[in-house]
Amino acid sequence: MNRRVLVTGGASGIGAAICSAFLHVGDEVTSLDRTTSTDPRVASVVGDVRSTKDQRLAVDHAAGDGGLDVLIANAGIHDGGLTLEGAPLEVLLERFRHVLEVDVVGYLISLRAAADALREARGCAVLTLSDASFDVQGNGAGVAYVTAKHAALGLVRAAARDLAPDVRVNAVAPGGVATSLSAGSDGESRRVISDPEALSARLRNRTLLARGATLDQIASAYLYLASPPAAAITGQILRVDSGLLP
Ligand code: NAD
Repeated sequence: MNRRVLVTGGASGIGAAICSAFLHVGDEVTSLDRTTSTDPRVASVVGDVRSTKDQRLAVDHAAGDGGLDVLIANAGIHDGGLTLEGAPLEVLLERFRHVLEVDVVGYLISLRAAADALREARGCAVLTLSDASFDVQGNGAGVAYVTAKHAALGLVRAAARDLAPDVRVNAVAPGGVATSLSAGSDGESRRVISDPEALSARLRNRTLLARGATLDQIASAYLYLASPPAAAITGQILRVDSGLLP
């Protein structure tokens, strides 16, 4: 479709699947990530979503003369399930601030950095939320990740209000899917989903459809929300979680 698309966290997992989906329909895709995309068709900007400078660079790189058509704010980290009393206060605070800085402030900076370019193209933004935006039980999320994903839900609605009428803002909320999603501080991060088989077994028992969604199925939801048929949709969350049970 020849749209200009910027995906944060596009080098891995859900973000990489989103990049492939938009490339497949003929769009130009740029990724802002800590690492370079392994897909040579993706233009990589290596940087940190917590940096306003890196985010502006990425928007400048992705947007052409006509602006930016699609922003996907997706880069994120997990908290490893750390509960309110699960660690000394200093450790909890460090993890909490880090997760909110990436998962919430990072999204805010993305929206702000891209707002003018999106307005110019009358484009749209799609954010990555989570079942942890709604549920607190049974998904392995700790206090920081639950708080961050609930906050991101508010951000979708506030940004849809503030960027209207020119820019639509929506979100996709995936359930669990095996990726490199990591918890910890910058120096020592560890994967949250270390056992994909255990995740599949859990989703078989916790979903109406008795299976998890695939990365391709999740990526398709972003394509839809960014497409012309979704032109009347803003401020909405599309849950792609096979009917996750509470
Ligand atoms: P992932 O680790 O495979 O991908 C996340 C990407 O974000 C990585 O490439 C990472 O390098 C990048 N990233 C992290 N911090 C960054 C930073 N400060 N600056 C720039 N890039 C950074 O994990 P994923 O599962 O694909 O996660 C993508 C999004 O999906 C996250 O927002 C996550 O919360 C959300 N999500 C994941 C699941 C799941 O089960 N995997 C479920 C629901 C929502």
